[in-house]
Amino acid sequence: MKIWEPQNPAVVDELTAMWKDGKSATEIAAVFDGATRNSVIGKIHRLGLGRPRRAARASLANPRVKKPRAIRAPKPRPVAAPRPAPKPAVVIDISHARPWIERSARQCAYLLDDDRACCAAIKPGSSYCAGHHSLIYRPTSSADDLARSLRKYA
Ligand SMILES: [Zn+2]
Repeated sequence: MKIWEPQNPAVVDELTAMWKDGKSATEIAAVFDGATRNSVIGKIHRLGLGRPRRAARASLANPRVKKPRAIRAPKPRPVAAPRPAPKPAVVIDISHARPWIERSARQCAYLLDDDRACCAAIKPGSSYCAGHHSLIYRPTSSADDLARSLRKYA
């Protein structure tokens, strides 16, 4: 049995020859005293020795021809609906503000602080002026959203 000296050119030559003959790393390690399979693999890697690819050997050993895989076209991605443009900031006039207790039924009920209400003219059908109504009530974006929110509470 020969001594494993990975730096020794004679060992390197013999290792290279055995590897090119098709011996496995385990078989090579068995020839050298002190060598392990992993040390042989490491040396082979550092020497840059390669083997023919397995696919090439497999095709020689197995004459069965594989069908080429069909190449699928990538699935089209769903196009996201364009986002609605952000609403412009609503400027609300609070110059009519007065204490809540002095507010009449036709004045905006939006509370500005602890005791003052907006008191601008209300939007028909609402308790708030047009500015505060748009601030409080947000329209549903679609019938699907409405149906989804109804199912949520059903
Ligand atoms: Zn208001």
